[in-house]
Amino acid sequence: MGTSFVIVGANGRMGRTLCDLIGQEPDLSLVGAVDTPEHVADVSLRMVGKCPVSDSLENLLARVPKESVIIDFTSPAVSMASARLACAKHFPLVIGTTGLTREQISELESLATTNPLFWSSNMSIGINAIRKILPDLAQALGADYDMEIMEIHHRHKKDSPSGTALTLGKTLAEARGWDIDKVRCSKRDGIIGERKDEEIGIQALRGGDVVGVHTVYFMGPGERIEITHHAHSRENFARGAIRAGIWLTEQKPGKLYSVADMLS
Ligand code: NAD
Repeated sequence: MGTSFVIVGANGRMGRTLCDLIGQEPDLSLVGAVDTPEHVADVSLRMVGKCPVSDSLENLLARVPKESVIIDFTSPAVSMASARLACAKHFPLVIGTTGLTREQISELESLATTNPLFWSSNMSIGINAIRKILPDLAQALGADYDMEIMEIHHRHKKDSPSGTALTLGKTLAEARGWDIDKVRCSKRDGIIGERKDEEIGIQALRGGDVVGVHTVYFMGPGERIEITHHAHSRENFARGAIRAGIWLTEQKPGKLYSVADMLS
C-alpha cells in the first residue's frame, strides 16, 4: 500500500481539494479527516464509506495506521496544536497554513528536531522555482533597480500580505544583504515622501475568488521587469503538499523542512 494521509481542516478550501485528490490516486489512502464540531457533519457526508471523520485529531490518531502522514491547512493556532500532537504521537506532519508568527516558526523548528515536520507558505513548484532565480536577478540588476511585490487573493483570505509575498520579499532582501523586517513597506498613504533606497514594498489586493497571483517587480532606469505567477486552482498547492508528505516519510527529524529542501 502507498502513503496514508490524515487531513486536518478537511472541510476547508484546501482540505477538500486534498481529500478529492488523494481519493483519486490509487497509490494513496485517506485514513482520516478532521474539522471543527460545526463542520464534521458536512465532512462525514462527503466521506461516507471513505474514512473516519472526527473533530479531534488526537482521537483520530488512535485509529489510523502508525505510518500515516498528517497534512494541516487550517489556522496558525490549530496548526501549532497539530504540530505538538504529531510530535508527541510520532506522526510526520506537513503544514501549509500561512500567517505564522516568528515565535510559532521557532517552535516548529524546535519540534522538528525530534519529529519529521514540513512547513511551506507556498507549496507550488512554480513559486519555488521563481524564488530560486530571484537572488541572481537582484544581483545582476544591481542597486539601481527598485524591488516591489504585489499579491492578489480571494476575499476570504485572513492574513495579509500573503505568506508567499513575505517569503519572496525575504528572498529579495537577503539577496541585497537587508533584513526584510526593517525594509518592508506594506502601507503607503498620504504625504509619505520619496521612496527609500533600502525598501521593498509588499502590497495586497483582495477580492472575488482569486486563488493567488504574485508579481515581483524590478524597476530601473528606463525599464521594468515583472515576474508573475498565477495559481489557476488549489490543485497545484495540494499536489505539492501530497508530494511533501510522501517525501517526508523518508526524512529523518533534524530540521523544519520546506519545498526548497524537497526540490534540492
Ligand atoms: P479555509 O478557511 O477554507 O479552511 C480552513 C479549515 O480549517 C476550515 O474547514 C475550518 O473549519 C478548519 N478548522 C478550523 N479550526 C479547526 C480545528 N480546530 N480543527 C480542525 N479543523 C479546523 O482556509 P483555506 O483557504 O483552506 O486555507 C487554510 C490555510 O492554508 C490558510 O492559512 C491559507 O493561507 C493557507 N494556504 C496555504 C497554501 C500553501 O501553498 N502553503 C495554499 C493555499 C492556502
